[in-house]
Amino acid sequence: MELLNQNYMKIIERINKAKEKSGRQKDEIKLIAVTKGIRSKAIKKAASLGIVHFGENRVQEVLPKMEGLPEHLKWHFIGHLQSNKVKDVLPRFSLIHSLDRISLAKEINKRSEKENRVTDVLVQVNVAKEKSKFGLSVQETEGFIEKVVEKFPYIKILGLMTIAPYVEDAQEVRPIFRELRNLAQEIVIPGAELTELSMGMSNDFEVAVEEGATMVRIGSALFR
Ligand SMILES: *Cc1c(COP(=O)(O)O)cnc(C)c1O
Repeated sequence: MELLNQNYMKIIERINKAKEKSGRQKDEIKLIAVTKGIRSKAIKKAASLGIVHFGENRVQEVLPKMEGLPEHLKWHFIGHLQSNKVKDVLPRFSLIHSLDRISLAKEINKRSEKENRVTDVLVQVNVAKEKSKFGLSVQETEGFIEKVVEKFPYIKILGLMTIAPYVEDAQEVRPIFRELRNLAQEIVIPGAELTELSMGMSNDFEVAVEEGATMVRIGSALFR
């Protein structure tokens, strides 16, 4: 069996085990295959295995790669988004995971209105307070969402996203995932059902699933 296929099967098995362990058998968890640095030939292979959701963090890199890939694929924008790239991202991505500031919300709203669409987003939260990472603080998140709901009708917030620090033992980042889930549950704002939790990467996705992830973003464990 080919390596990519093997990796994929192993990941699915590990997700299923984590679901079972945490009593989440019935929950749907989206595997987002992160393709930064991956060529379009490998993406095509992944799509042929049945993977539908793909994630990228650089617009310039992914647009040329998308040419010739199946139309049914769903693209997730997972990186830091510059306002001047919003116009390129909107038509091709089905979900933006990285809304982290009002100026970006303003631009997404403006472009969405122009294109007569509502854009789905997740709000990125820097739970671990890492200086090198983008995202709102836990304390700012509720007020931020309130503002977006009130001011930007062409944006629909579906949930929260976080990136945990890299650690050898994934158990160490469990509190971070738990905090994101608790935050999503505590925020009650009409018009923003925070049902999606995008958390967990190659190194820590099982712990994230146990803590309630609805989307895991996996690159190296799949494409190594
Ligand atoms: C690269 C990246 C991933 C995937 O990381 P792996 O450790 O390779 O699984 C997930 N999320 C974001 C935001 C990334 O930039």
